[in-house]
Amino acid sequence: MTHFVPKNLPDRIQHYIDGEFVDSVDGGTFDVLDPVSNETYVQAAAGQQADIDRAVAAAKHAFDTGPWPRMKNRERSRILNRIADQVEARGDELAELETFDTGLPITQARGQAHRAAENFRFFADLVVAQRDDTYQVPGVQMNYVHRKPVGVAGLITPWNTPFMLESWKLAPALASGCTVVLKPAEFTPLSASLWAGIFEEAGLPQGVFNLVNGLGEDAGDALVKHPDVRLISFTGETTTGQTIFGNAAKHLKGLSMELGGKSPAIVFEDADFDAAIDSTLFGVFSLNGERCTAGSRILVHRSIYDRFVETYAARAKSIVVGDPHDAKTEVGALVHPEHYAKVMSYVELGKSEGRLVAGGGRPDGLDTGNYVSPTVFADVKPDARIFQEEIFGPVVCITPFDTDEEALELANAVKYGLAAYLWTTNLERAHTFAHQIEAGMVWLNSHNVRDLRTPFGGVKASGLGHEGGYRSLDFYTEQQAVHISLSPAHTPKFGASS
Ligand code: NAD
Repeated sequence: MTHFVPKNLPDRIQHYIDGEFVDSVDGGTFDVLDPVSNETYVQAAAGQQADIDRAVAAAKHAFDTGPWPRMKNRERSRILNRIADQVEARGDELAELETFDTGLPITQARGQAHRAAENFRFFADLVVAQRDDTYQVPGVQMNYVHRKPVGVAGLITPWNTPFMLESWKLAPALASGCTVVLKPAEFTPLSASLWAGIFEEAGLPQGVFNLVNGLGEDAGDALVKHPDVRLISFTGETTTGQTIFGNAAKHLKGLSMELGGKSPAIVFEDADFDAAIDSTLFGVFSLNGERCTAGSRILVHRSIYDRFVETYAARAKSIVVGDPHDAKTEVGALVHPEHYAKVMSYVELGKSEGRLVAGGGRPDGLDTGNYVSPTVFADVKPDARIFQEEIFGPVVCITPFDTDEEALELANAVKYGLAAYLWTTNLERAHTFAHQIEAGMVWLNSHNVRDLRTPFGGVKASGLGHEGGYRSLDFYTEQQAVHISLSPAHTPKFGASS
């Protein structure tokens, strides 16, 4: 297979601090690999505490003295719209770099670039429509909410859809008037560097956006522990979230955590069978299965179970795996050899925990690169590790159930609670089941189609807090209550009795 390499690759990846691209203070770098050749294609600056200190100082200076937090929402909104214009104009370039760095299929990377622009447009609109509460006690008191940006926000993001997930944090943080330090995932630092040029072009003031690359335990850890960083918005693994939770405690920081998932897709006997097959395939094999909301446990009513497993496995075997840059590719290469080894270890484990009906290893003809055949295990018991643990790759388990009660018990039998997908034509069952399921987000007769106004987030080990719509603005702003007396306040006269 020819190996596509984008023409505009940088010769090194640096930090971006106070409007300038800079190396690490100590000159340290780390290797960045592409997932098709698994060769190092660039060195990225390895941020340490000293680099975080510089970036936070720049963000704090921009917050304390710069125009951004003080601008009218309308002015900030104009800049956010110009950012969206830039992202759209550079969408193809961005998708190409993202595909090269992550191994995501190019058609899906284009979709993610479009979504990144949409996130900026959405928060540009929302912030000008922002209204805050006023509470009247007629003739006595009026009380209103004064909203203001919290300060310097630390944004820590994963590698699965890097640019899009960065936009999901950058857009509301900037719309709210915060200044930011972004620490992107070390497996995929390439596309994050584009933000600097996009923001400069759109007119974002200097020092508002700062980027520090580096490993989680160095740059990420220093960002979380920095006393001048008031908020941390984190997306990543549950175990990393737990570490961050502990480290943020000392300074009582605001935390928003989008963590792992092992989401169920439940197919009842009355479901639209073909639609459920299409959707549950897309739900776990899109984005190479490296998707937090993947429906990676499919629970199927026993009356349609054999037909479902047979149809599903046949389709999974026909999924086109290959060069991420080829527009026909449906599943590309997993992000990194370490992640590939993890996913493959689950594929091997699954062979003793379930009945392998599709995939089970490397696809024929793809001898190098992090390729995994879409893998389907049937008859998986709920105590199996492949049922319980997040694999984050193109691997799915299918389990039968007999009653709605059993389906609910199976659905809720894991520590995670991010998303759930229900397939039924029974309206009453759909709603009562949706209300009982332990998941932050439920889709009825659909895969993951987002409305940016709705809450996004998980319950149990899948997250803390919800972003999306006004909830994101609430996270990045303080809501100060101001009380105005409209008549002399009745005040007990302490010390007046003598
Ligand atoms: P990860 O937790 O390994 O890393 C995420 C980020 O945290 C990276 O930037 C990393 O450098 C940083 N980090 C690591 N250790 C740190 C520390 N001690 N202090 C501060 N920062 C640290 O996650 P990943 O492997 O990059 O991403 C995959 C995970 O992300 C999966 O579990 C997936 O479900 C989850 N995810 C969740 C959502 C969601 O919205 N719920 C979305 C996408 C991905």
